[in-house]
Amino acid sequence: MRKYDAVVIGAGNGGLVAAIRLLQGGAKTLLVEKHNLPGGFATSFRRGRFEFEASLHELNDFGTADNAGDVRELFDGLGVTDKIEWTQIPEAYRVIARAEKLDATMPFGVQAFIDKMEGYVPGSRPSVEKFFDLAEEIRLAQAYSSSVNGKTDSKYMVSHYGNFVRCGSYSVNEVLDSLKMPKKARDILNAYWCYLGAHCDDLSFLHYASMVNRYIKRGASMPKGRSHEISLALTERIRELGGDVLFNTEAVKLLTDEKDGGIAGVVLDDGTRIETRHVVANCAPHLVFGKMMDKVPEAEVRAANARKFSGRGFTMFLGLDADADELGVENHNYFLYDTADSVAQYGRMRTIAENEVQATVCLNRAYPECSPKGTCMLYFTTLYMSDDWGNVKAEDYYKTKDFVANKMIDRFEQDTGAKLRGHIEEISVATPMTYARYCGHPQGVIYGYESQYWDGLMPRLQMMGEDHKVRGLRFAGGYAMRLSGYSSAYFSGDISGRQTVGDIKREG
Ligand SMILES: Cc1cc2nc3c(=O)[nH]c(=O)nc-3n(C[C@H](O)[C@H](O)[C@H](O)COP(=O)(O)OP(=O)(O)OC[C@H]3O[C@@H](n4cnc5c(N)ncnc54)[C@H](O)[C@@H]3O)c2cc1C
Repeated sequence: MRKYDAVVIGAGNGGLVAAIRLLQGGAKTLLVEKHNLPGGFATSFRRGRFEFEASLHELNDFGTADNAGDVRELFDGLGVTDKIEWTQIPEAYRVIARAEKLDATMPFGVQAFIDKMEGYVPGSRPSVEKFFDLAEEIRLAQAYSSSVNGKTDSKYMVSHYGNFVRCGSYSVNEVLDSLKMPKKARDILNAYWCYLGAHCDDLSFLHYASMVNRYIKRGASMPKGRSHEISLALTERIRELGGDVLFNTEAVKLLTDEKDGGIAGVVLDDGTRIETRHVVANCAPHLVFGKMMDKVPEAEVRAANARKFSGRGFTMFLGLDADADELGVENHNYFLYDTADSVAQYGRMRTIAENEVQATVCLNRAYPECSPKGTCMLYFTTLYMSDDWGNVKAEDYYKTKDFVANKMIDRFEQDTGAKLRGHIEEISVATPMTYARYCGHPQGVIYGYESQYWDGLMPRLQMMGEDHKVRGLRFAGGYAMRLSGYSSAYFSGDISGRQTVGDIKREG
């Protein structure tokens, strides 16, 4: 039996960062990953002469050397920033909503964003300024919370970040109502909601405002070698720090201590038993509690079952034999909705028949050399807010993929005026089945547990201590306390890694 201070299960964004934090804290660490490469969703793949990004549309809160965001500061601390070649995304987004006849393209930069919004919606300036003031206070409160490992002093929070506490239990729509933001400005501002996969009646204002602020204030970044470049840099750093990494290795069982029920070891798929008292799991609690442990505290089972799975992913990747100008693809980042009413739109996203939402990216607009000269790449993502793909019969699977892929191309051409058909050289489609098989996420969810009013960012941060009923077991990644997305998964890896170092030190 080999012995480690800690074992990290899964080399996704959360697991990779947790492993580095553990090693930096002096813990002898093993990282196991069931695939033959790191990153989980954070990877790339090749088809013909195209290297497609598998998931990342844009990395939020990285910023530049002279306008560093929290992710850059985290990466500096991990020692990986300079291992990656970055490029900046040119503009925030173009949102098109059919019902409202809305077509707006928004820039990065808080002032530029507010000015552009005033152009689209005269009179919106005061409410949009208030939004960004509030969002900045939220960012500072979160930075304080993470600096004290989540053990916030409530009096300090109230005196320094009163508005953060005040907004704590309200949804996006409730707070924007109270800011008296004109409807059209809200429709434009709320365009990012599909990145968090919950509609704006349910989505915590704190969570949404924090994300929008980070995007608009710092801009967004992209590694030139796709997200896989980040995953490789993090893995290299783990090895530099003396960590062990095993690919093609699945953790199949967690052993528990008979006395306290806490972690005693990990069993790998080849039967190897690893002795450890600490595990950071970068996979779903549903899997850990449902499949990997014999005895699970009742409270953990109830908490996992009470949570709601987030959207199930579907992505179409196109390699085109003409460049973006020739095709009429003007922007990097598109959100195409039937309606800007996120609650109604969320409802339509439950079924394959009705869902026509897409978040579409043309990486060439940020990094023209990402594909051969005279070509470009597009990737189109949508989410299903129910397990409708689970109802597709095996014999209808390919037909259903074609149905959705065709709808996506038609919709993009109709809404943006671009011409894609006749130029498709490569096409690849990932459905919820692909995501379930690739990363092991139930039903193919790509954002962990959905952010809901009782289970959003704030409650999860506040309940961090409570959410830890099995001694020695912590979670990192999309299901954890910072919820889903690249930055959030990195931050939860950072928090869980550092907390585990604290646990180990306390044990002596
Ligand atoms: C199409 C798509 C587009 C997206 N776009 C964006 C975006 O633009 N911006 C953004 O911020 N986020 C985006 N996301 C979300 C983002 O990719 C995820 O939130 C994030 O990558 C999740 O990281 P994670 O740490 O949870 O790990 P995951 O990526 O879920 O990886 C978990 C890892 O654990 C491994 N594993 C699981 N079980 C075991 C086991 N038992 N033993 C060993 N290994 C195991 C898996 O193989 C996997 O490698 C997108 C996701 C998708 C799919």
